[in-house]
Amino acid sequence: MSEILKATRPSGRSRRPKTAEPGRVCAAEGCDTVLSKYNRSEFCNVHKPVRYPRLRGVLPSEG
Ligand SMILES: [Zn+2]
Repeated sequence: MSEILKATRPSGRSRRPKTAEPGRVCAAEGCDTVLSKYNRSEFCNVHKPVRYPRLRGVLPSEG
């Protein structure tokens, strides 16, 4: 009978899961810490970039 019309999906856009791929390791050199799939960072908790909390006009002195 009539042809079944398939809904066309925009190509090139794949759905990304909320969680990152499992089995990743820390991006830091020499660190083999396996990152949790919930950890969307490239680094483990030890090597992840440190973020200073917002201070009121007080900046840490740079060496
Ligand atoms: Zn690490």
